[in-house]
Amino acid sequence: MATVTALRILNPGFVSVTYGAGGSSRARTVELTKRIKSELGIESMAHVTCVGHASGELRALFGELEAAGIENVMALRGDPPKGETAFVQAAGGFRYASDLIELLSREFSFSIGAAGYPEKHPEAPSIEADIENATRKVRAGAEFLVTQLFFDNDAYFAYVERLRAAGVDVPVVPGIMPITNYEQIARMTKMSGASIPQRLLAELAARSDQPEAVAELGVAFTALQCSDLLARGAPGLHFYTLNKSPATRAVVSALVATQAIRNLAVSPA
Ligand SMILES: Cc1cc2nc3c(=O)[nH]c(=O)nc-3n(C[C@H](O)[C@H](O)[C@H](O)COP(=O)(O)OP(=O)(O)OC[C@H]3O[C@@H](n4cnc5c(N)ncnc54)[C@H](O)[C@@H]3O)c2cc1C
Repeated sequence: MATVTALRILNPGFVSVTYGAGGSSRARTVELTKRIKSELGIESMAHVTCVGHASGELRALFGELEAAGIENVMALRGDPPKGETAFVQAAGGFRYASDLIELLSREFSFSIGAAGYPEKHPEAPSIEADIENATRKVRAGAEFLVTQLFFDNDAYFAYVERLRAAGVDVPVVPGIMPITNYEQIARMTKMSGASIPQRLLAELAARSDQPEAVAELGVAFTALQCSDLLARGAPGLHFYTLNKSPATRAVVSALVATQAIRNLAVSPA
Protein backbone atom coordinates (compact mmCIF):
# COMPACT_ATOMS: atom_id res chain seq x y z
CA MET A 1 0.00 0.00 0.00
CA ALA A 2 2.93 2.35 0.76
CA THR A 3 4.34 1.74 -2.73
CA VAL A 4 1.01 2.33 -4.46
CA THR A 5 0.55 5.49 -2.40
CA ALA A 6 3.99 6.69 -3.54
CA LEU A 7 3.04 6.00 -7.16
CA ARG A 8 -0.30 7.77 -6.93
CA ILE A 9 1.18 11.11 -8.01
CA LEU A 10 1.80 9.52 -11.43
CA ASN A 11 -1.97 9.25 -11.90
CA PRO A 12 -1.97 5.65 -13.19
CA GLY A 13 -4.93 4.46 -15.27
CA PHE A 14 -4.92 1.33 -13.15
CA VAL A 15 -2.81 -0.68 -10.74
CA SER A 16 -2.68 -4.44 -11.14
CA VAL A 17 -1.91 -6.96 -8.43
CA THR A 18 -0.06 -10.18 -9.29
CA TYR A 19 -1.13 -13.68 -8.29
CA GLY A 20 1.39 -15.95 -6.58
CA ALA A 21 2.36 -19.23 -8.15
CA GLY A 22 0.22 -22.01 -6.77
CA GLY A 23 -2.38 -19.55 -5.54
CA SER A 24 -0.28 -18.90 -2.41
CA SER A 25 -1.15 -15.21 -2.44
CA ARG A 26 -4.78 -15.59 -3.47
CA ALA A 27 -6.25 -13.91 -0.37
CA ARG A 28 -3.70 -11.11 -0.55
CA THR A 29 -4.42 -10.46 -4.23
CA VAL A 30 -8.14 -10.07 -3.56
CA GLU A 31 -7.54 -7.96 -0.43
CA LEU A 32 -4.98 -5.61 -2.04
CA THR A 33 -6.95 -5.19 -5.28
CA LYS A 34 -9.96 -4.25 -3.19
CA ARG A 35 -8.04 -1.82 -0.94
CA ILE A 36 -6.31 -0.04 -3.83
CA LYS A 37 -9.71 0.73 -5.28
CA SER A 38 -11.64 1.52 -2.09
CA GLU A 39 -8.94 3.28 0.00
CA LEU A 40 -6.87 5.00 -2.69
CA GLY A 41 -9.56 5.46 -5.32
CA ILE A 42 -7.35 4.01 -8.07
CA GLU A 43 -8.86 1.60 -10.61
CA SER A 44 -7.42 -1.83 -9.88
CA MET A 45 -7.06 -5.16 -11.63
CA ALA A 46 -6.53 -8.60 -10.11
CA HIS A 47 -4.31 -11.15 -11.86
CA VAL A 48 -5.63 -14.71 -11.67
CA THR A 49 -3.87 -17.86 -12.85
CA CYS A 50 -5.00 -21.44 -13.57
CA VAL A 51 -2.26 -22.94 -11.33
CA GLY A 52 -3.54 -25.33 -8.68
CA HIS A 53 -7.24 -24.50 -9.06
CA ALA A 54 -10.21 -26.57 -10.17
CA SER A 55 -12.74 -24.60 -12.21
CA GLY A 56 -15.15 -24.43 -9.24
CA GLU A 57 -12.47 -22.73 -7.11
CA LEU A 58 -11.85 -20.22 -9.88
CA ARG A 59 -15.57 -19.48 -10.13
CA ALA A 60 -15.65 -18.87 -6.35
CA LEU A 61 -12.63 -16.55 -6.63
CA PHE A 62 -14.25 -14.54 -9.44
CA GLY A 63 -17.42 -14.33 -7.34
CA GLU A 64 -15.33 -12.92 -4.48
CA LEU A 65 -13.77 -10.32 -6.78
CA GLU A 66 -17.15 -9.38 -8.20
CA ALA A 67 -18.61 -8.99 -4.71
CA ALA A 68 -15.66 -6.71 -3.83
CA GLY A 69 -16.54 -4.41 -6.73
CA ILE A 70 -13.47 -5.32 -8.81
CA GLU A 71 -14.16 -4.84 -12.51
CA ASN A 72 -10.89 -5.95 -14.15
CA VAL A 73 -9.14 -9.32 -14.32
CA MET A 74 -5.84 -10.25 -15.98
CA ALA A 75 -6.42 -13.89 -16.97
CA LEU A 76 -3.26 -16.00 -17.07
CA ARG A 77 -2.18 -19.60 -17.23
CA GLY A 78 0.50 -18.92 -14.61
CA ASP A 79 4.03 -20.10 -14.07
CA PRO A 80 4.86 -23.33 -12.23
CA PRO A 81 5.17 -22.96 -8.44
CA LYS A 82 8.71 -22.56 -6.98
CA GLY A 83 10.80 -25.72 -7.33
CA GLU A 84 8.76 -27.05 -10.28
CA THR A 85 9.80 -26.65 -13.89
CA ALA A 86 6.67 -27.40 -15.92
CA PHE A 87 3.09 -26.15 -15.72
CA VAL A 88 0.76 -28.90 -14.52
CA GLN A 89 -2.97 -28.64 -15.19
CA ALA A 90 -4.88 -28.94 -11.89
CA ALA A 91 -7.46 -31.73 -11.59
CA GLY A 92 -10.71 -30.27 -12.92
CA GLY A 93 -8.83 -27.12 -13.86
CA PHE A 94 -7.66 -25.39 -17.03
CA ARG A 95 -4.65 -25.88 -19.26
CA TYR A 96 -4.49 -22.56 -21.04
CA ALA A 97 -5.30 -18.92 -20.31
CA SER A 98 -7.82 -19.01 -23.19
CA ASP A 99 -9.89 -21.58 -21.20
CA LEU A 100 -9.97 -19.22 -18.24
CA ILE A 101 -10.96 -16.32 -20.51
CA GLU A 102 -13.82 -18.41 -21.95
CA LEU A 103 -15.15 -19.06 -18.45
CA LEU A 104 -14.87 -15.36 -17.57
CA SER A 105 -16.65 -14.22 -20.73
CA ARG A 106 -19.40 -16.78 -20.37
CA GLU A 107 -20.23 -16.30 -16.69
CA PHE A 108 -18.94 -12.91 -15.53
CA SER A 109 -18.84 -9.30 -16.70
CA PHE A 110 -15.24 -8.31 -15.95
CA SER A 111 -13.09 -6.36 -18.35
CA ILE A 112 -10.53 -9.04 -19.27
CA GLY A 113 -6.83 -8.60 -20.00
CA ALA A 114 -4.35 -11.24 -21.22
CA ALA A 115 -0.59 -11.61 -21.65
CA GLY A 116 1.27 -11.08 -24.95
CA TYR A 117 4.86 -11.94 -25.86
CA PRO A 118 6.74 -9.73 -28.35
CA GLU A 119 9.63 -12.22 -28.37
CA LYS A 120 7.27 -15.24 -28.08
CA HIS A 121 6.41 -17.26 -24.99
CA PRO A 122 9.36 -19.52 -24.09
CA GLU A 123 7.24 -22.68 -24.56
CA ALA A 124 5.72 -21.65 -27.90
CA PRO A 125 7.26 -23.49 -30.87
CA SER A 126 7.23 -20.36 -33.04
CA ILE A 127 6.19 -16.72 -33.07
CA GLU A 128 3.36 -17.72 -35.46
CA ALA A 129 2.01 -20.25 -32.92
CA ASP A 130 2.15 -17.60 -30.22
CA ILE A 131 0.33 -15.05 -32.40
CA GLU A 132 -2.33 -17.72 -32.93
CA ASN A 133 -2.61 -18.08 -29.16
CA ALA A 134 -2.96 -14.33 -28.62
CA THR A 135 -5.67 -14.34 -31.31
CA ARG A 136 -7.43 -17.21 -29.51
CA LYS A 137 -7.38 -15.26 -26.23
CA VAL A 138 -8.86 -12.16 -27.85
CA ARG A 139 -11.55 -14.20 -29.64
CA ALA A 140 -12.39 -15.79 -26.27
CA GLY A 141 -12.97 -12.32 -24.79
CA ALA A 142 -9.70 -10.58 -23.86
CA GLU A 143 -10.17 -6.85 -24.42
CA PHE A 144 -6.53 -5.83 -24.16
CA LEU A 145 -3.08 -7.41 -24.03
CA VAL A 146 -0.23 -6.42 -21.73
CA THR A 147 3.15 -7.61 -22.95
CA GLN A 148 5.95 -9.45 -21.29
CA LEU A 149 8.88 -7.15 -20.49
CA PHE A 150 11.17 -6.29 -23.40
CA PHE A 151 14.02 -3.90 -24.12
CA ASP A 152 13.90 -3.94 -27.92
CA ASN A 153 11.15 -1.60 -29.12
CA ASP A 154 11.35 -2.93 -32.67
CA ALA A 155 10.33 -6.37 -31.33
CA TYR A 156 7.22 -4.78 -29.77
CA PHE A 157 6.19 -2.93 -32.94
CA ALA A 158 6.80 -6.02 -35.11
CA TYR A 159 4.61 -8.01 -32.69
CA VAL A 160 1.79 -5.44 -32.89
CA GLU A 161 2.03 -5.52 -36.69
CA ARG A 162 1.72 -9.33 -36.73
CA LEU A 163 -1.29 -9.16 -34.43
CA ARG A 164 -2.97 -6.54 -36.62
CA ALA A 165 -2.31 -8.70 -39.69
CA ALA A 166 -4.00 -11.60 -37.84
CA GLY A 167 -7.06 -9.39 -37.25
CA VAL A 168 -6.39 -8.61 -33.57
CA ASP A 169 -7.34 -5.00 -32.98
CA VAL A 170 -7.30 -4.65 -29.17
CA PRO A 171 -4.81 -2.33 -27.41
CA VAL A 172 -1.40 -3.95 -26.85
CA VAL A 173 0.13 -2.24 -23.82
CA PRO A 174 3.93 -2.50 -23.54
CA GLY A 175 5.10 -4.09 -20.28
CA ILE A 176 8.10 -2.14 -19.01
CA MET A 177 10.55 -3.18 -16.35
CA PRO A 178 12.76 -0.32 -15.20
CA ILE A 179 16.33 -1.60 -14.92
CA THR A 180 17.68 -1.08 -11.41
CA ASN A 181 19.84 -4.07 -10.62
CA TYR A 182 22.33 -6.01 -12.74
CA GLU A 183 21.70 -9.51 -11.34
CA GLN A 184 17.94 -9.02 -11.42
CA ILE A 185 17.91 -7.97 -15.07
CA ALA A 186 20.13 -10.93 -16.02
CA ARG A 187 17.71 -13.28 -14.19
CA MET A 188 14.56 -11.68 -15.64
CA THR A 189 15.78 -11.72 -19.23
CA LYS A 190 16.76 -15.38 -18.88
CA MET A 191 13.36 -16.29 -17.43
CA SER A 192 11.26 -14.31 -19.92
CA GLY A 193 13.38 -14.89 -23.03
CA ALA A 194 13.58 -11.09 -23.56
CA SER A 195 16.66 -10.01 -25.46
CA ILE A 196 18.76 -7.15 -24.16
CA PRO A 197 20.79 -4.92 -26.51
CA GLN A 198 24.46 -5.99 -26.38
CA ARG A 199 25.69 -2.43 -25.92
CA LEU A 200 23.36 -1.87 -22.95
CA LEU A 201 24.37 -5.19 -21.39
CA ALA A 202 28.06 -4.32 -21.75
CA GLU A 203 27.54 -0.89 -20.15
CA LEU A 204 25.56 -2.45 -17.28
CA ALA A 205 28.23 -5.14 -16.80
CA ALA A 206 30.93 -2.45 -16.64
CA ARG A 207 29.00 -0.91 -13.73
CA SER A 208 28.06 -4.18 -12.01
CA ASP A 209 30.14 -3.40 -8.91
CA GLN A 210 28.50 0.05 -8.58
CA PRO A 211 24.77 -0.53 -7.94
CA GLU A 212 23.92 3.18 -8.09
CA ALA A 213 25.56 3.58 -11.49
CA VAL A 214 23.59 0.55 -12.78
CA ALA A 215 20.34 2.11 -11.57
CA GLU A 216 21.22 5.51 -13.11
CA LEU A 217 21.92 3.98 -16.50
CA GLY A 218 18.88 1.69 -16.16
CA VAL A 219 16.48 4.54 -15.42
CA ALA A 220 17.93 6.65 -18.26
CA PHE A 221 17.56 3.73 -20.69
CA THR A 222 13.98 2.96 -19.60
CA ALA A 223 12.93 6.63 -19.83
CA LEU A 224 14.23 6.88 -23.40
CA GLN A 225 12.70 3.48 -24.28
CA CYS A 226 9.29 4.70 -23.02
CA SER A 227 9.59 8.02 -24.82
CA ASP A 228 10.31 6.18 -28.09
CA LEU A 229 7.36 3.79 -27.54
CA LEU A 230 4.92 6.63 -27.00
CA ALA A 231 6.30 8.69 -29.90
CA ARG A 232 5.80 5.67 -32.19
CA GLY A 233 2.18 5.14 -31.14
CA ALA A 234 2.11 2.75 -28.15
CA PRO A 235 -1.29 3.14 -26.43
CA GLY A 236 0.18 3.53 -22.92
CA LEU A 237 2.76 1.91 -20.64
CA HIS A 238 2.42 -0.78 -17.98
CA PHE A 239 5.23 -0.75 -15.41
CA TYR A 240 6.44 -3.86 -13.63
CA THR A 241 7.28 -2.00 -10.44
CA LEU A 242 8.14 -5.12 -8.41
CA ASN A 243 6.62 -3.34 -5.41
CA LYS A 244 9.11 -0.48 -5.58
CA SER A 245 8.38 3.12 -6.52
CA PRO A 246 11.61 5.14 -7.13
CA ALA A 247 12.61 3.89 -10.60
CA THR A 248 9.07 4.09 -12.04
CA ARG A 249 8.66 7.55 -10.54
CA ALA A 250 11.95 8.69 -12.10
CA VAL A 251 11.02 7.25 -15.52
CA VAL A 252 7.54 8.80 -15.56
CA SER A 253 8.96 12.09 -14.27
CA ALA A 254 11.28 12.16 -17.29
CA LEU A 255 8.25 11.64 -19.57
CA VAL A 256 6.32 14.41 -17.80
CA ALA A 257 9.36 16.70 -18.15
CA THR A 258 9.53 15.94 -21.89
CA GLN A 259 5.88 16.97 -22.26
CA ALA A 260 6.51 20.14 -20.26
CA ILE A 261 9.41 21.07 -22.56
CA ARG A 262 7.29 20.40 -25.67
CA ASN A 263 4.51 22.60 -24.23
CA LEU A 264 7.04 25.36 -23.55
CA ALA A 265 8.23 25.07 -27.11
CA VAL A 266 4.73 25.54 -28.54
CA SER A 267 3.29 28.07 -26.08
CA PRO A 268 3.21 31.72 -27.20
CA ALA A 269 5.98 33.99 -25.86
C1 LIG B 1 1.38 -8.98 -18.16
C2 LIG B 1 1.76 -10.27 -17.48
C3 LIG B 1 1.34 -10.49 -16.16
C4 LIG B 1 1.66 -11.69 -15.50
N1 LIG B 1 1.25 -11.89 -14.21
C5 LIG B 1 1.46 -13.08 -13.58
C6 LIG B 1 0.98 -13.34 -12.26
O1 LIG B 1 0.36 -12.48 -11.64
N2 LIG B 1 1.22 -14.56 -11.71
C7 LIG B 1 1.91 -15.54 -12.39
O2 LIG B 1 2.09 -16.64 -11.85
N3 LIG B 1 2.40 -15.33 -13.63
C8 LIG B 1 2.19 -14.12 -14.25
N4 LIG B 1 2.67 -13.91 -15.53
C9 LIG B 1 3.48 -14.95 -16.18
C10 LIG B 1 2.60 -15.96 -16.98
O3 LIG B 1 1.79 -16.69 -16.08
C11 LIG B 1 3.55 -16.88 -17.73
O4 LIG B 1 4.20 -16.20 -18.76
C12 LIG B 1 2.96 -18.20 -18.21
O5 LIG B 1 4.03 -19.08 -18.54
C13 LIG B 1 2.05 -18.11 -19.43
O6 LIG B 1 0.87 -17.49 -19.13
P1 LIG B 1 -0.18 -17.09 -20.32
O7 LIG B 1 -1.38 -16.55 -19.65
O8 LIG B 1 0.48 -16.26 -21.34
O9 LIG B 1 -0.48 -18.56 -20.90
P2 LIG B 1 -1.15 -19.08 -22.25
O10 LIG B 1 -1.71 -17.98 -23.07
O11 LIG B 1 -2.06 -20.19 -21.87
O12 LIG B 1 0.10 -19.68 -23.04
C14 LIG B 1 1.00 -20.60 -22.44
C15 LIG B 1 1.70 -21.42 -23.53
O13 LIG B 1 0.77 -22.33 -24.12
C16 LIG B 1 0.69 -22.13 -25.53
N5 LIG B 1 -0.72 -22.36 -25.89
C17 LIG B 1 -1.79 -21.67 -25.47
N6 LIG B 1 -2.94 -22.20 -25.95
C18 LIG B 1 -2.58 -23.27 -26.70
C19 LIG B 1 -3.30 -24.26 -27.44
N7 LIG B 1 -4.62 -24.27 -27.51
N8 LIG B 1 -2.58 -25.23 -28.09
C20 LIG B 1 -1.23 -25.24 -28.01
N9 LIG B 1 -0.49 -24.35 -27.31
C21 LIG B 1 -1.16 -23.37 -26.68
C22 LIG B 1 1.16 -20.68 -25.73
O14 LIG B 1 1.65 -20.42 -27.04
C23 LIG B 1 2.24 -20.57 -24.67
O15 LIG B 1 3.44 -21.15 -25.11
C24 LIG B 1 2.41 -12.70 -16.19
C25 LIG B 1 2.84 -12.46 -17.51
C26 LIG B 1 2.52 -11.26 -18.16
C27 LIG B 1 3.02 -11.03 -19.57
